[in-house]
Amino acid sequence: MEKKLKIVVGNCPQNHKCPAVKVCPVGALSQNGFEAPQIDYDKCIACGKCSKTCPKKALVLS
Ligand code: SF4
Repeated sequence: MEKKLKIVVGNCPQNHKCPAVKVCPVGALSQNGFEAPQIDYDKCIACGKCSKTCPKKALVLS
């Protein structure tokens, strides 16, 4: 089965600018203020770069 990226909102402290938004090569992540990022599944290629970047494991590719 193809892997899919999920946001584990409970792992995100939602108190900072998400570093993973800039890491995404296809611009699939966006963030409203300091909220947990949102995924545009039409853009996401499930590369896993964002999940490696997030120190809180709030972006999980599984
Ligand atoms: S898995 Fe890759 S393409 Fe998808 S949101 Fe994360 S960095 Fe972007």
